[in-house]
Amino acid sequence: MNILEVQNLSKVYGKDEMEVRALDDVSFTVKKGEFVCIVGPSGSGKSTLLHLLGGVDVPTSGQVLIDQTDIYALDETQLAIFRRRQIGLIYQFYNLIPILTVEENITLPMLLDEQKVDIAHLERIIGILGLSNRLTHLPNQLSGGQQQRVSIGRALISNPAIILADEPTGNLDSQNSEEIMSLLKLFNKKFNQTLIIITHDERIALQADRIISIEDGKIAKNEVVRA
Ligand code: ADP
Ligand code: ADP
Repeated sequence: MNILEVQNLSKVYGKDEMEVRALDDVSFTVKKGEFVCIVGPSGSGKSTLLHLLGGVDVPTSGQVLIDQTDIYALDETQLAIFRRRQIGLIYQFYNLIPILTVEENITLPMLLDEQKVDIAHLERIIGILGLSNRLTHLPNQLSGGQQQRVSIGRALISNPAIILADEPTGNLDSQNSEEIMSLLKLFNKKFNQTLIIITHDERIALQADRIISIEDGKIAKNEVVRA
């Protein structure tokens, strides 16, 4: 089953002679449980693509279907709710809320929607992420690797259709990077969590099931690495 379908997606920034075609008629699909890496040179359109997949920007044309929902056909309120429930976002610089504890940061997407937190699910995630004795800490009391584990928890709490990660290890040393990658892969393999990572790092891309290369806003390659 395709959990993600991207159809003829384009994004143009600016107007007239200032126009930049950041993404040009991009189409691909991702199956449930797949781990896909998106690679490409700086300025090729990777972040633009991730923002469009994450429902945080609006395409110039084309569609993004996540679990069969055409996300840009939703109104703003519906999209905000859909995003919190079905799209887990992980950033290079964590984007945690500094005045909230670890537990509050992780459960925030549920609380914003007045959804009940599934305590067994929460405890399992916290256990796997090794955060059990950090729940009442504030983000600035944690290392970078620990903060990224909190943001993984926040991305997973609603059991989303897809996880989108933008250079998730870009701010970490090699040992913490490896740890974060093994955790993301564990959720991918053990819980069939669909995972899409943007990366510059060849060592990360080579761990994916499939690598999509973007060049000049177009897909240059779309290769299965492992079946
Ligand atoms: P990447 O993530 O691969 O580095 P981006 O998606 O950030 O690429 O950028 C793709 C192209 O779109 C670049 O030419 C960039 O300068 C341009 N671009 C990105 N964001 C904007 C914006 N908000 N306004 C104008 N141009 C932009
Ligand atoms: P059920 O559909 O019976 O609830 P699941 O296979 O969805 O079973 O989940 C079984 C257990 O795995 C649950 O306790 C849940 O906490 C955990 N789980 C499910 N999905 C995820 C996920 N994406 N990340 C972490 N844990 C998960």
